[in-house]
Amino acid sequence: MTNYPVAEAFFSVQGEGLHMGRSAYFIRLYGCNVKCPWCDSKPAWQGGAADIVSAESLAETVEKSGAEIAVITGGEPCLHNLEPLLAELSAKKIPAHLETSGTLEIKENPGAEFAWVALSPKLFAMPSDAALGRADELKFIISNAGELGEYHALAAKAKNARAVWLHPEWSKSSDKGLLNALCEFVKANGFPYRVGWQMHKNYFAR
Ligand code: SF4
Repeated sequence: MTNYPVAEAFFSVQGEGLHMGRSAYFIRLYGCNVKCPWCDSKPAWQGGAADIVSAESLAETVEKSGAEIAVITGGEPCLHNLEPLLAELSAKKIPAHLETSGTLEIKENPGAEFAWVALSPKLFAMPSDAALGRADELKFIISNAGELGEYHALAAKAKNARAVWLHPEWSKSSDKGLLNALCEFVKANGFPYRVGWQMHKNYFAR
């Protein structure tokens, strides 16, 4: 039996990315090696895990919820061996989505694979080329428009990404200059760029 340190687990809707709006059960695992200063999930890496839960129990809870997808997030979930959890979800035919910084290996095996990988790289903790190549979509959190050039270079390595989202860092989500710069970047570069938002916050969901 494999146990995981869980910061929180909850049923909600996916608020970001190409799966936005779908019912989703979130499994937020404890621990992060990146430690972004503006992180809005600091309880996921500060103060200790809320619970220790087995792969079997997590998969059963997701199944009972009736959620369309399971989102394995963090913290940085790839700090943990996710293969037993993936195998349990796969046995129940529950699509498993991964949200990761791309700094650590994304381990998969036949019968224990992710249906979707969303990568959110940070310039101060660069992702591996392998993670960029595995990504189905990218999400960049932009604090200032001067970062766009470096993120553009990263996006060029994500050959399989069907979308590259530009999100304003949340404390700057009312910064008209930054929002305008993101819009202009998408207008200038087109596919696969999109301006993004954390839609669940508009719905007062977690
Ligand atoms: S990688 Fe994610 S969880 Fe970790 S500090 Fe950054 S925003 Fe927070």
